[in-house]
Amino acid sequence: MTKIRSKIKSRQKAILMGVGTSDIAKEELEESLEELRQLAVTAGAEVINVMLQRMTSINPATYIGKGKAKELSDEVKSRECDLVIFDDELSPAQAGSLERILECSVIDRTGLILDIFALHARTKEAKIQVELAQNKYLLPRLTGQWTHLERQEGAIGTRGPGETQLETDRRAVRRRISKLEKELDKIDSQRAVRRANRRGFKLAAAIGYTNAGKTTLLNALSGANALVEDKLFATLDTIVRKVSLRKGDELLLSDTVGFIRKLPHDLVASFKSTLSETIEADLLLHVIDSSQPNITARMEAVTSVLHEIGIEDKPMIHVFNKSDLVESSGKKKSLMKSFPDGVFISAARGEGLEELKDKIYEKISFENVTKTVSIPVSESRFLSEIHSSGRVLNVSQMDGQILIEFEATVEAASKIQNKVNKLAE
Ligand code: GDP
Ligand code: MG
Repeated sequence: MTKIRSKIKSRQKAILMGVGTSDIAKEELEESLEELRQLAVTAGAEVINVMLQRMTSINPATYIGKGKAKELSDEVKSRECDLVIFDDELSPAQAGSLERILECSVIDRTGLILDIFALHARTKEAKIQVELAQNKYLLPRLTGQWTHLERQEGAIGTRGPGETQLETDRRAVRRRISKLEKELDKIDSQRAVRRANRRGFKLAAAIGYTNAGKTTLLNALSGANALVEDKLFATLDTIVRKVSLRKGDELLLSDTVGFIRKLPHDLVASFKSTLSETIEADLLLHVIDSSQPNITARMEAVTSVLHEIGIEDKPMIHVFNKSDLVESSGKKKSLMKSFPDGVFISAARGEGLEELKDKIYEKISFENVTKTVSIPVSESRFLSEIHSSGRVLNVSQMDGQILIEFEATVEAASKIQNKVNKLAE
């Protein structure tokens, strides 16, 4: 598999560059840059300096202003930096101009996030998804300016008559994209089989900002032992575990990739199959790191991804995690006021989990109905099917028929009834 690995190598010296137009609040900018710093460190860079420019409008040629570009260039030279990382998405032309001015590599936040995803992709599916997103990101960036003459000469034989290297490159990337999409489809259909094996279990999905504690919560609720790391994007794959609620009711809980501000659109699109558990869930647990200063901005980033995958209207519980780190009771009170359905927990300490389970129980209807069906004795194997989708209360025989009294969800009961009706036909 070809991998378009990044321009970041271990311990590369990097300068971060943030640009804020006047409509963006200072805290929002600073937080976004702090997050960029964590992302850069996760990718293996050493952050030498963080620079910020306030502008009334973006310079279309170089994104930042001329004076700032000069200042940045001096800083790159005096600190011997290898890389400048921009907090916002640069156009290919802007990145190209900046590389010429600064005489070092220039990447943007999207490129950096793609890079980290490439580093953390473990399963075949995650690898394909990341490579797909990388190729989609690359396609519009394959511009003439990056097509070197010597490559064109050396590429004779690999291209058709009269074609430029650029067209050949673009076609190769497009071919790769369609191949990767086909492979993903295949994995998706395998997933459908697994889904069918869930047998009527209700499904809840833990979602939320990266590092909010989703995996810790899944482990705490299910006794699983999935990887928990104080890192952005430790989890790229979806895992599903069984959780017992009160009265012996069980549901499945999935944990998946976390969200982040300015998450590249191509990445969200490519991760749709990883997010399929989330898309199909009966209930979303929005896990929020309540110890962070700017909770709403992160919650909005999550909501906008939910919107992008079309599930913003699903039933949801706001799970305010890391409550052990929240000292001010005023903060809790005001959150409670804004989110009356919310629940404060500490997944790490196992606090508030019973209350959370009760809320989950309330939100997901486990309403059972009791029903009696009669089947011919010759079809007695049908009994095991009822056993697997409901609870059998009583079995008796009468006139060559088996009478089965069982309890199941409304949905499961009506499925069983339909099957019994078919048996009688
Ligand atoms: P995810 O990215 O949302 O899956 O987050 P993780 O479950 O990997 O947790 C991220 C970090 O937060 C880890 O260092 C956890 O130990 C920490 N963490 C998770 N829950 C809590 C909590 O309730 N309290 C505290 N203090 N830390 C927590
Ligand atoms: Mg995780």
